Amino acid sequence: MGRSKSLTLPMSIDVALRRHTCQHSKKHLIAKGDRRLKIAVARSHEHYCVACARKFIGESIDHLQQLEAQLDSPS
Ligand SMILES: [Zn+2]
Repeated sequence: MGRSKSLTLPMSIDVALRRHTCQHSKKHLIAKGDRRLKIAVARSHEHYCVACARKFIGESIDHLQQLEAQLDSPS
């Protein structure tokens, strides 16, 4: 049996080496030294601030839990 299929994008948490904005909103500033969510997209990476990361992770958990619940539903 091979490894399980991953249902999430390749991503990690890293630390910003310079100040920049969050890719979700230019109003979100990521300071040098802040943690950020790094998502591999195509051959590049997208970076999101901690607030966005928490929101995206929470929404993804909800979505996966809904799918999991559907496995048990009678219809
Ligand atoms: Zn953000």
